[in-house]
Amino acid sequence: MKTLIVKGRTIVSGVGPDGNVARVDDAAVLVRDGTIVDIGPIRDLRAPDDAEVIGGDDFVVLPGFVNAHHHVGLTPLQLGAPDLPLELWANYRMGARRVDFHLDTLYSAFELVRSGVTTVQHLHSRVPGGVEEVAAGAREVIRAYRDIGMRVSYAYALRDQNRIVYADDETFYARLPDDLAEPLRATVDAQALSADENLEVFRILSGEFDEAGDVAIQLAPLNFQWCSDSALKQVAALSHERGALVHLHLLETPYQRAYARKRTGGSALGHLDRLGLLNERMTLGHGVWTTADDLDLVAERGAGICHNCSSNLRLRSGWAPVNAMLERGIRVALGIDEAGMNDDRDMLQEMRQVLRTHRVPGHQARVPSVAEVFRMATENGAGTTGFGARIGRLDPGCAADMVLMRWSRIARPYLDPDVSVLDAVVQRGKTDAVDTVLIGGVPVLRGGRFTRIDEEAALRDLAQFMNRPADEDERRRRAMVGRLMPHVEAFYENWLAEEPFEAYDVRNSRI
Ligand SMILES: [Zn+2]
Repeated sequence: MKTLIVKGRTIVSGVGPDGNVARVDDAAVLVRDGTIVDIGPIRDLRAPDDAEVIGGDDFVVLPGFVNAHHHVGLTPLQLGAPDLPLELWANYRMGARRVDFHLDTLYSAFELVRSGVTTVQHLHSRVPGGVEEVAAGAREVIRAYRDIGMRVSYAYALRDQNRIVYADDETFYARLPDDLAEPLRATVDAQALSADENLEVFRILSGEFDEAGDVAIQLAPLNFQWCSDSALKQVAALSHERGALVHLHLLETPYQRAYARKRTGGSALGHLDRLGLLNERMTLGHGVWTTADDLDLVAERGAGICHNCSSNLRLRSGWAPVNAMLERGIRVALGIDEAGMNDDRDMLQEMRQVLRTHRVPGHQARVPSVAEVFRMATENGAGTTGFGARIGRLDPGCAADMVLMRWSRIARPYLDPDVSVLDAVVQRGKTDAVDTVLIGGVPVLRGGRFTRIDEEAALRDLAQFMNRPADEDERRRRAMVGRLMPHVEAFYENWLAEEPFEAYDVRNSRI
């Protein structure tokens, strides 16, 4: 049995549903075999003499953060795709170069851990080939997290229709010249899995990883417009049968809401509910264009929403009604999605982004508190993964996933003593203050250095892989997307003309 004492000037266990912060000053966490046993003043902890001591008087000890919505290593921008509206951007990315899944995943995992993330919800897609190739790609992603020592909740995204625009693929091909339709069809077909094949991938990976404590496998129908009713029903049945959690992108853009109205005559949420998908196992990614009625239904069914603030701003998707979600007591988690404001994966920066973005005018207006945002990044994020209540808080019985931040970096050169520790961490904490990160009691980052893997060597290997000359397929796809964009743009013309809009809050006024 390995015993560890993690000392801090303050230990923050978490934030309760009432917004109260649970903290102890000048205390320590006692960890045995990767699990928290006790928290309190160090003299009260019953630790053996040979217990290893980590931390000290300069550290704030926090629960590890959960990035509840993540996809890739190298960012779309790094791979040549500019920030475009989602419907264009998603297609433009077909022109990106192939990546090595292991090295690519390591790259973003380094960034995540450096910003205090200990668990990630990895939503994977775009693997060419069939069931075997996709399962092999998934194993490479999972291997990368294990090499670093991170916890991963993994899902391979299911998409069985409307692979280019929000309409049948054949209908769209017919609008294109043959010399564009053909390479497009070849590219799309190379990555197309049926719903049955996708669920087979889920079963294979569950069989391999369900017993492991550091990997959880879940389901991820990619978005309403990209899944047929029959696929969604299959997901609902499998989730029910296995108790598997589901993460579904939903209502990310106004075009997706318009699509849902065309397909169902009403709301995507009502339709999902009728298909049996809206329950406490469901997390909706984005939810920017949810109406007040939609949010009432989400709250009633106990589903959660993952707020991807930076992504919404970068891709012009809109402002998610986060204040209305919080008002209804909906579990809101945070996702950095493909990349945050600095084109990296920085959870500290993302928390600040969320805190600021929803500060609407009006003295009486409800805005997110620091404690609420912190809870989104910890306990609420944990609830979207298969690890549930084992992570997201520092309580006895929880996994010892924790972040040690140097208080002197946060508070220097002066900070009024009345400023709370949590205010200081969320509003001023930057990655240079993250000194040590423990996952399952193992220090994966210590003194700002990775302990289990050579970061520089991995980044060199990644650079070398990406700097190879482009092959025939990569050159063909890059040339293709430039020609495709005007056709995609033309497809959505007038889509929003008939849509009713009434904003949740007022941000400015032209009269
Ligand atoms: Zn996403």
